This record gives sequence, C-alpha cells and structure tokens, in this order.
Amino acid sequence: MKKLVCDRCGVELTDSNEIEAAFEGMEAWQEAVRARGDEPRGVFPCENYIRCSGEMQFVDDKKFPQGEKSG
Ligand SMILES: [Zn+2]
Repeated sequence: MKKLVCDRCGVELTDSNEIEAAFEGMEAWQEAVRARGDEPRGVFPCENYIRCSGEMQFVDDKKFPQGEKSG
C-alpha cells in the first residue's frame, strides 16, 4: 500500500482517489518546478506548501529491509 507523505511537515495522503488526482497533475507540477530552476523532490506540492514548502513523496507503507546484501 503506497501513500503520499510531505517531506517537510509530514502530512499524509492515503485516499486512493486523491493520490490518483495527484498523479494526473504531477507532470505539470514538476515542469513548473524545473522551470524555476529547481529539481522536484516529490509529485506535487503539500497542502501546506505556503507554510512548509514541502512536496508530497511516495512511500511504501511497510518497513524497508535493513542491511541489504549484494551478491
Ligand atoms: Zn507539508
């Protein structure tokens, strides 16, 4: 189960309809960020963007494995 989390204030978005809507606006947002010379960190601005300047990032809602081995 994936969700979106703000990288600044930590607000979470778990509603699948809202996540889908975010995806639809993702390219426009990322283009706008690049147009002003930044690199987008997430897929769209946080709902508190004016205050936190955060971007919503996808996270997998389960623990990541630790100590990944190679080989
Ligand atoms: Zn935020």
